[in-house]
Amino acid sequence: MKKRPYIISGPCSAETKEQLLKTAKQLVKHGSIDCLRAGIWKPRTRPNFFEGIGETGLQWLKETGDAVNLPVTTEVANTRHVELALKNNIDILWIGARTVANPFSVQEIANALKGIDIPVMVKNPVNPDLQLWVGAIERIFQAGINNIKAIHRGFSSFEKSAYRNTPKWEIPIELMRIFPEIPIICDPSHIGGNRNMIKAIAQKALDLEMDGLMIESHFNPDEAWSDSKQQITPKKLQQILSKLVVREPEVNDKTLKSKLDILRKKIDGLDEEMINLLSNRMNIVEEIGNHKKENEITILQADRWKKIINDRNNTAREAGVSEEFIQRILKVIHKESINIQTNILNKKKNE
Ligand code: PEP
Ligand code: MN
Repeated sequence: MKKRPYIISGPCSAETKEQLLKTAKQLVKHGSIDCLRAGIWKPRTRPNFFEGIGETGLQWLKETGDAVNLPVTTEVANTRHVELALKNNIDILWIGARTVANPFSVQEIANALKGIDIPVMVKNPVNPDLQLWVGAIERIFQAGINNIKAIHRGFSSFEKSAYRNTPKWEIPIELMRIFPEIPIICDPSHIGGNRNMIKAIAQKALDLEMDGLMIESHFNPDEAWSDSKQQITPKKLQQILSKLVVREPEVNDKTLKSKLDILRKKIDGLDEEMINLLSNRMNIVEEIGNHKKENEITILQADRWKKIINDRNNTAREAGVSEEFIQRILKVIHKESINIQTNILNKKKNE
């Protein structure tokens, strides 16, 4: 059955009591959200930027939530944050991407949460390391917290990209496989870094069966004290949400199901063929490796590699497949071939 996504929204940072209340009231007026967010302590990459309003903001946040009848959530990064958030009756905590990258910090938070029954959301670490994300969830789980959600906010990268944080969708998809019972919330604001990208990223998240969205909103985004480019007005949020298509997670129609079954069988067959072809290819790579060893020839011959890329690009173009896609696959295959031949060349005579 189609499932309405869980929506978290609110400003990147709590700035003033008025800003929080005005934003929250507009959020409620323009539609329905499930939880109000605001950062109280802001982890900034560089110094001399607004680092959050601090402790006083916790009370504003809770009062605002009460005024509009919504649970509230904020980021915690150390024991003190946890204690103050609990003291101010914050309903849900989240652990930010920079904190999740540091197991000492996550463990410190887990220890502070022992014996406390509060929902916790764990963002992915800034670096694309699935195990760090898994480990952080395990640490919180071991502290006795059962209500855990994961937040996918993308990964920083040195390469230039249209995204502020590249989504690398394969990582949250793998997390879903490891923890099928943990809901995943997508954060298109921090992935895109730009308000124009929010809708497309949010739609993709829903099409990947993610369970909710965390989207930053502000009654006056251009004047926001942090992340102004990616924040949107509550009105815009509702426009975006109303345009998102929530698709069926399963196929119910019988005719469609049998059509899909036939096509999927074909895919299964083609995948099997591809694996057999790759196995044949690697056998030949091994044979060539033996010749190279015997005749003391280098593994890589740059001219040959250049020719492969050119030829395969032509074939891809003729077949109507993206050249860039084929190049990516070829690079992975070539890397495996080099590994196989390296092992052969390094083998001692009597091994
Ligand atoms: C935030 O949600 O405002 C935030 C700081 O996010 P992240 O930890 O994903 O950078
Ligand atoms: Mn932000």
